[in-house]
Amino acid sequence: MLLDPLIGSFSNDLAIDLGTANTLIYTRSAGIVLNEPSMVAVRKGDQRASKVLAVGKEAKEMLGRTPSDIAVIRPMADGVIADYDSTEIMLKYFIRKVHKRRSFIRPRIMISVPSGVTPVEKRAVRECAESAGAREVFLIGEPMAAAIGADLPITEPTSNVVVDIGAGTTEVAVISMAGTVYSRSVRVGGDKMDEGILQYLKRKYNLLIGLKTAEFIKITIGKAHQTEETETLEVKGRDLVTGIPKTLTIDSEEVRKAISEQVGTIVQTVRIALEQIPPELSADVVDNGIFLTGGGALLRELDVLLRGETRLPITITADPLITVVLGAGKALSNLSLFREIMAE
Ligand code: ADP
Ligand code: MG
Repeated sequence: MLLDPLIGSFSNDLAIDLGTANTLIYTRSAGIVLNEPSMVAVRKGDQRASKVLAVGKEAKEMLGRTPSDIAVIRPMADGVIADYDSTEIMLKYFIRKVHKRRSFIRPRIMISVPSGVTPVEKRAVRECAESAGAREVFLIGEPMAAAIGADLPITEPTSNVVVDIGAGTTEVAVISMAGTVYSRSVRVGGDKMDEGILQYLKRKYNLLIGLKTAEFIKITIGKAHQTEETETLEVKGRDLVTGIPKTLTIDSEEVRKAISEQVGTIVQTVRIALEQIPPELSADVVDNGIFLTGGGALLRELDVLLRGETRLPITITADPLITVVLGAGKALSNLSLFREIMAE
């Protein structure tokens, strides 16, 4: 019987972007099959699987509304596993979900990891995927996955700068000849911006809001750079003086100021990276510019700000929230081509 052993065994393979904020899963046959918050709701004081109440979207919906004995946690922090057990539970749940609970399937899995992770952190990701059911695990650096996902010519002798702004970290990497020539990461991303907005409202108006509301404000009227138009938004929270719920209107200029420190750190990190690029590669960067990816790339006017600060072409990838998982998926489909660039 002529049966290509490759076809059957590859069809269930998964590429996973296990992000601090969002987990995405891609399959060759169906594209993106899962996109959910990296969150788990647990009953406090009990870490066992049976006490996990919700995972993903359902867990995020519980955020900020849970009774005091329930906690909504993020198993990943700054791109690495912060809580091994809940990461494993979450991953298992997501993998089962995409395989429609046919738990006997043991896929090969490509997982993206931040470029600066330690061997211990890599091993944790690998073991976690294995115990979540993977038959074989491959790791790929996130900037490399982003570059592949953005269709950049990574194997050619030219260099590309990728800036991935996630929830916990911003990573700047220079990629050339299928290798990461330089990478630098700071623990500033979307989360710290949300925190900045929360603190601003507390200080200025004695208004207490939750992080979910802060994120909503950022996404709705947040900007990295001043524009002629100013938008406003009604915000509900609790008055810290009276203790009573209240509503007030804030504008986009206030939000811009509330996140300016975080945005400044991101710009500064890009600048430092540009200064460290070997001179032979700088010429490429002048031509190719900088590619922005990750959810933070969607912050309005960030590209304008960076263009002004660096005088370089700035491109936001087609869909910044999915670029990394697309690239990881492409690498998984072309293992022979991408084998050398895998993060061991
Ligand atoms: P991670 O890889 O760390 O999981 P993502 O790349 O999924 O992160 O990006 C999530 C971050 O992007 C969050 O902080 C989220 O608030 C932020 N984000 C998503 N959409 C927008 C937007 N339109 N404007 C600003 N920030 C955004
Ligand atoms: Mg990410």
